[in-house]
Amino acid sequence: MQNCMSGNLNLDNWGHIKPQLSQFFGEKAYESWLKFLKFDQLAGGRVYLTVPSRFLRDWITTRFGDKLLTLWKKENNNIHSIEISVQAGEDSFDKTLHTNNSPNNGSSLDTVLTAPNTKLDTTTANTNSLLNAPPALDPRYTFETFVVGKPNELAYAAAQRVATANVINFNPLFLHGGVGLGKTHLMHAIAWHIQNHQKHRQVIYMSAEQFMYQFVRALRHKNMISFREQFRSVDVLMIDDVQFISGKDSTQEEFFHTFNALMDKKKQIILSADKSPSELDGLQERVRSRMGWGLVADIHPTTYELRLGILSAKVEVLDIEIPPLVLEFLAHKITSNIRELEGALNRIVAHATLVGQKITLDSTQQALKDLLRANERSLTIEDIQKTVAEHYNVRIADMHSNRRLRVVARPRQVAMFLCKQLTPKSLPEIGRKFGGRDHTTVMHAVKKVGELMATDPLFEQDITMLENMLKK
Ligand code: ADP
Ligand code: MG
Repeated sequence: MQNCMSGNLNLDNWGHIKPQLSQFFGEKAYESWLKFLKFDQLAGGRVYLTVPSRFLRDWITTRFGDKLLTLWKKENNNIHSIEISVQAGEDSFDKTLHTNNSPNNGSSLDTVLTAPNTKLDTTTANTNSLLNAPPALDPRYTFETFVVGKPNELAYAAAQRVATANVINFNPLFLHGGVGLGKTHLMHAIAWHIQNHQKHRQVIYMSAEQFMYQFVRALRHKNMISFREQFRSVDVLMIDDVQFISGKDSTQEEFFHTFNALMDKKKQIILSADKSPSELDGLQERVRSRMGWGLVADIHPTTYELRLGILSAKVEVLDIEIPPLVLEFLAHKITSNIRELEGALNRIVAHATLVGQKITLDSTQQALKDLLRANERSLTIEDIQKTVAEHYNVRIADMHSNRRLRVVARPRQVAMFLCKQLTPKSLPEIGRKFGGRDHTTVMHAVKKVGELMATDPLFEQDITMLENMLKK
């Protein structure tokens, strides 16, 4: 590692300090950021540390810098400053949560925004191909740019295995998960990898919709024989979004035969869908069961950590300052899916570039007003009933019951009041959700609670607290 140690501090002291980091800053901060710190040297009262990326340097310096210094000072009071610099390397940071420095990823946001497409030439190599318009593989969708976290680690590992193995382990590989969570990204990554590393293997990647389109066209042009040959001669068949063939019987039929032919020849099949085979409606039983034969890997909804990881990876390749606070804000607020998260980031960058201003929390909120509203979790009547029941220690069933005892009737009124205040529901709608009560009952509750709040400060405090709890 590094040389030039001086002073009475050395790597041992770092060895002493490092374990304290997770205690001091918390496990999460340590795992996400601080573990990437490496000790370089101590010279002239200054500690030199390195991290593998610019983003990490800025993040750690702004967020943890002062406290880091305090920690070092406890070890050695002669230390007056810390300097963190970037030393790109073979660090695990690149390989785990964050994108690495592959050529693809050296692109700036420009390329991200303009989305250039290239074609998968293993399929175009077939001249008289029926697949004469092979779907483009997106050059951004590689393993290197895929950020791995808890929700997608299984799918990622399976995809890697299938892409790199020489023997077939799982057949088919079935990836499933909600919209915008990275299925297509992983499919392309597999295709790219095989195309680049095992050039002899012929890969076809297409959506189920394109499969159907080709099939229908072959039928019309009486080309079925070459259509079949085409598909059955590939080494790897990848069909994205197979939920599309639900309810389309003859396409399923054809797919089934293609599928069986390839399985017999021990060729790799990779499928994706928005649901698992057993949850997909409109599939013939035999098709469904074949799809579940190999490995079924799901991608779960994102977590905060994954969203933050993805954002920081994206920011890494941008030549623009984005305060960590803004990224945290986005990761908190845009929870629907990764496509929207990327969209939000692109939007604030475009906004800032256009108006020539720095990105701040304010400018972010401004640029994303509509998106933020759409992502706001809407509060339901059930949420309110639950929170209120817990608060007053009554059963949720009492929100619907006819019991008139004050100890349950009052919380019920409070819940109705809060439903009126915090949701756009009408009085009759609210009444229905409270055991089919009349809208006048709800009106009465709203009035009653309002009066009590005006006369009883303690009660008012209680309601305000409940409101705040529900709004957060
Ligand atoms: P799906 O096919 O599941 O609807 P996509 O694969 O199209 O989702 O992903 C939507 C967008 O989010 C793409 O731009 C993709 O690159 C990005 N994305 C999804 N998952 C990740 C990830 N783990 N790391 C980086 N980018 C991701
Ligand atoms: Mg997709």
